[in-house]
Amino acid sequence: MDSFTFPYQQYLHSELPDEMQELVTAAGNATQRAYAPYSDLKVGAAVLMADGTILTGANQENAAFPVGICAERAILSNIHLSDETKIKAVAVTYSADNKQTDKPIAPCGMCRQAILEMQHRQHSPIAVYMCSPKGLVIMVENAEFLLPFAFGNDDLPAYKPQV
Ligand SMILES: [Zn+2]
Repeated sequence: MDSFTFPYQQYLHSELPDEMQELVTAAGNATQRAYAPYSDLKVGAAVLMADGTILTGANQENAAFPVGICAERAILSNIHLSDETKIKAVAVTYSADNKQTDKPIAPCGMCRQAILEMQHRQHSPIAVYMCSPKGLVIMVENAEFLLPFAFGNDDLPAYKPQV
């Protein structure tokens, strides 16, 4: 039988390189902009661009539940990729009044698909930092690791590469 294995690394926030500490902190600060009256799960995300720019977003829920958008995709929808503008890393974390745990949060399936599409478009890996409010971080260096057997653009015969 075949199987998937992939590397990941676990850190404490204080063990991360300065640039990544800043990214994770930005994601944590973004949780304050979440609108999560239904789940009480305030998710914040931050994207580190190759030039050092950090973009942030937070989940925005809606009374019509499917209308809500996750923190990660709220950011990704605002990025124009180019040869000079690539995504280096995505960090995601959360806060919730009744859920201050050490369990890192991971992107949902839809966001994994969205991050992977950006990775395919830019032809370079996107690292994903999954964080807990108490400072535990799990990192994968490649978004592909989070979505085995992914559906992708090579499944679509009409796909025409463009940046
Ligand atoms: Zn999501």
